[in-house]
Amino acid sequence: MPQSTHPSPTSFLLDEENRQLTLTWTDEHESVHSWEALRWACPCAWCSGEGGQPGMLQSKQSLSVEETTLIDVQPVGRYGLECDECLKKSRKGL
Ligand SMILES: [Zn+2]
Repeated sequence: MPQSTHPSPTSFLLDEENRQLTLTWTDEHESVHSWEALRWACPCAWCSGEGGQPGMLQSKQSLSVEETTLIDVQPVGRYGLECDECLKKSRKGL
């Protein structure tokens, strides 16, 4: 793994009870994110669009509980983290 000056998550903990994700970063700080906020901030092509195409989030006023449930998260290259749904969608296109 090449060293990066940009902090990236080193580990994460899914808190299903509180619907939160706790991230530990390479600079050793911890951050807690609600699943819903994470979903709204998801930078993947499916959620926020790519190449001038609007993403799924642009057409939504609100997200259902299902859409903001994180079943699994994977550290993904430049995105940092991707939600389970995004991973599934992006794999479908391959
Ligand atoms: Zn996404």
